[in-house]
Amino acid sequence: MNHLINAFPSRSVAVVLGTRPELVKLAELIRTLGPAARVLHTGQHYDDDLSGSFLNELGLPAPEYLTGVGGRPRALQVANALAGLDERFAAEPPLAVVVQGDTNAALAGALAANARDLPLVHVEAGLRSHDRAMPEEHNRVLIDRLADVLCAATPDNRELLLAEGVPAERIAVTGNTVVEAVQDHLPPPEERAGLLALGGLVPDGYVLATVHRPENTDAPAALTAVLEELAALARELPVVLPLHPRTRARIEAAGLLPLLDGLTVLPPAGYGTFLALARHAALIVSDSGGVQEETTVLGRPLLVVRRSTERPEALADFADLVAPGPGIGAAARRRLAEGASGLRRLGALPSPYGDGTASHRIAALIAELAAGRSTATPATRPAAAPSRVPAHAA
Ligand code: UDP
Repeated sequence: MNHLINAFPSRSVAVVLGTRPELVKLAELIRTLGPAARVLHTGQHYDDDLSGSFLNELGLPAPEYLTGVGGRPRALQVANALAGLDERFAAEPPLAVVVQGDTNAALAGALAANARDLPLVHVEAGLRSHDRAMPEEHNRVLIDRLADVLCAATPDNRELLLAEGVPAERIAVTGNTVVEAVQDHLPPPEERAGLLALGGLVPDGYVLATVHRPENTDAPAALTAVLEELAALARELPVVLPLHPRTRARIEAAGLLPLLDGLTVLPPAGYGTFLALARHAALIVSDSGGVQEETTVLGRPLLVVRRSTERPEALADFADLVAPGPGIGAAARRRLAEGASGLRRLGALPSPYGDGTASHRIAALIAELAAGRSTATPATRPAAAPSRVPAHAA
């Protein structure tokens, strides 16, 4: 596969991204593509904590930045990114365009590929929350309709696509690239112990929380409910909250800063730091998409603070879905009561998201596509039986 990739002209595979989770999940693929990758960053996430310093930490090359996207309403984010990408694709047409997930950046990348008749690869295809109130649900459905190669993370994602009428030959089950992201970036045990000690934290003795989704941050009632539940938990054990910039802004605007008093509030954590904190948390409370997958690799329990999820695989053992409100505290205490034996049980389970080879499988599909012999068929077999990753055993 590498010899195929190495044969590509440099900058011939456009990788369009714009947010923190896309950087995390595309990092290994970009590294595998090497000089063939042309990374285009729409600027959807423009805070250094969510973007610039993340690029450095993940060892990614400097991307080309588009302008006029960050902080704009959704329609303008998509429209302005689309215009910027179209200009670039017209001047220097890539052999293929890669997008990941369900962001506005990914939708703009998909539309730009379609407008210039460029083959489109969708990483993490086939996720569905069936929740039409989520802009991401519309984004992922639209991207899957346009994609030529749909990289489904799990066999269930493939089934969802087939049920929607996507032809089987377009779908490959690759596993989720988050598995190798965790394997690559989880700091070694002694470094993790140092990080925890620095924060006065004891392994298995604290809760890690993240909140950033609009349904939890934009309605003051929901935001108050989530913060009150975290504040109540913090009376029992430390609650660490790396605070997303949009959440901080909403908390300040709603006058809710006093609810943070009992919490250990941090700026958004670097990826390695966040993984180290997650690896040793007694419980994670989060509305993040990527964190739902990461907990299955790290073997930790999670409360998903949302009304729906597009990642039911995590619910089987690792996660509980809880609406913002008093249910959070009750579900947290149930999980915490499982104690060391509960953590051991999860630690022994394999991740449903694959074995850490997704990025290499996807690079092979891109190589076939760009070499003009595209077919997803050879890789449509489900990923090999998932195995527990070394990260977890560490
Ligand atoms: N993350 C991080 N630092 C933090 C919080 C999250 O590195 O302080 C990582 C997390 O491990 C995951 C990604 O950011 O890989 C998730 O991003 P986010 O929650 O913004 O997006 P979502 O996954 O919900 O689309």
